[in-house]
Amino acid sequence: MYLFVLYAALVWVSVFSFRRRWQSIPVLLLGVGAVYVAVSLLNWLFTTEAPVFEGPPAPGQSETHSSSPVMLPIVGYAYQALILLVGLALAAMPRPAHINACHHCGYELTGLDSGTCPECGKTFDPRRLKAGPVAPA
Ligand SMILES: [Zn+2]
Repeated sequence: MYLFVLYAALVWVSVFSFRRRWQSIPVLLLGVGAVYVAVSLLNWLFTTEAPVFEGPPAPGQSETHSSSPVMLPIVGYAYQALILLVGLALAAMPRPAHINACHHCGYELTGLDSGTCPECGKTFDPRRLKAGPVAPA
């Protein structure tokens, strides 16, 4: 069970590091696709080894054997949907607003052209600051 959590965390961390970049989408699809292949493979193995299929439980009748192979695709798809939805949310997360932060103290340097950080006094190259509007912190 730890493996599932670990795998999901791995995919999410990868997606998060690529958030707001196009790379996050193939990483996410690859992560979900690998689960799809694994679930399909496991399901195929289970169904070919145990061909007895009792069918879905009748309405109102509770599922007694939750570990049956019939449950595998359902759990697998739920797991894929979870990775996909959380991954999409992570991919849409904003990047840090301080893209022009001082390398020494982290002070926001956007709009400054003096070449000196007003916070710590370190010098910087104003030409290397990225132009454009800065998202609110
Ligand atoms: Zn500074």
